[in-house]
Amino acid sequence: METKLLAPEQVEAGADIIRSGGLLAIPTETVYGLGANGLDPEAVRRIFAAKGRPQDNPLILHIPDSSWLERYCAEIPPEAYALAERFWPGPLTMILKRKPLVPDVTTGGLDTVGMRCPSHPVTLAILRSAGVPVAAPSANISGRPSCTTAAHVREDLWGNIDGIMDGGPCAVGVESTIVDLTVTPPRLLRPGGLPLEELEDVLGPVAVDKAVTGLLSEGEQPRAPGMKYRHYAPRAPVTVVTGPPEASAAYIEAHMGKGSGIVCFREYLGRFSGHVACELGPAEDRAEQARRVFDALRRFDGTDVTEIWAQCPDRRGLGLAVENRLKKAAGFHVVEAE
Ligand code: AMP
Ligand code: MG
Repeated sequence: METKLLAPEQVEAGADIIRSGGLLAIPTETVYGLGANGLDPEAVRRIFAAKGRPQDNPLILHIPDSSWLERYCAEIPPEAYALAERFWPGPLTMILKRKPLVPDVTTGGLDTVGMRCPSHPVTLAILRSAGVPVAAPSANISGRPSCTTAAHVREDLWGNIDGIMDGGPCAVGVESTIVDLTVTPPRLLRPGGLPLEELEDVLGPVAVDKAVTGLLSEGEQPRAPGMKYRHYAPRAPVTVVTGPPEASAAYIEAHMGKGSGIVCFREYLGRFSGHVACELGPAEDRAEQARRVFDALRRFDGTDVTEIWAQCPDRRGLGLAVENRLKKAAGFHVVEAE
């Protein structure tokens, strides 16, 4: 298949691809998405095929504003509108009861649907012009780190999709925060670009799904089906080292070997000369770490490192999302440095 690379002024060409049942990689503030008409089961099936995504892993529906919620969702609680008012367009996905017109293949057979209004202006324009909700998971091959540039999408999907809209590098860099509003109290299913603290500012206390910070035991089911899969992973195995930055850096120095690759905070880059090392940004700048984490993980795939050690931020602000992506990349292989 020929893949067209579109520039931001080609909104109409992008909307045409969506309207005609094709696959278009779209820029968002979080990561690139692989979009199709979310009401067209055939188009949605193509998303699963292009990514190699398991069928039971539902997709998020992207809409241009909260007035579209009632077209696709039932029993919408007032909190949904309060959150939309404060955080949309932005990196927040809400799980709501779906209406029957949302196809089973889009929701993985669930009676709920994830709804999001992304803030990238080009994608908002495509959504408005296409006139349909766009189902879009992250635009990576299933299991690989998500794409934060159009070049990443090319690496994974060139020749297998109809188009890539190049909207520049993603401003946030990790996927949306997912909150389930069909349960009381509301539950955080995936930490992401909107910090938990901000969500709780509007909702009060939010329960955190166990799958966010730990490995589920055999037979346990996460509420976001996607959280059960190994994810975000480079080819070499990853070990995450938690604890204060000085302690985790010292731990890695003491345990690394000749073929070790390193993901570290900027301040510690000098300690790992002679190794393939990717910096996450300053130890205290969790927003910068979120922007860099997927690119850092992807970089090792072009090298011959045999293992990867990663420093990890604490859970404040976007730290919770960065920690989650690193730990998932590591298959929850974690050591704690004191
Ligand atoms: P991705 O688009 O790759 O960021 O993946 C979307 C994530 O949203 C996956 O982890 C899904 O399991 C989750 N998700 C989407 N729809 C729902 C839903 N209705 N209920 C729970 N989780 C959902
Ligand atoms: Mg994904």
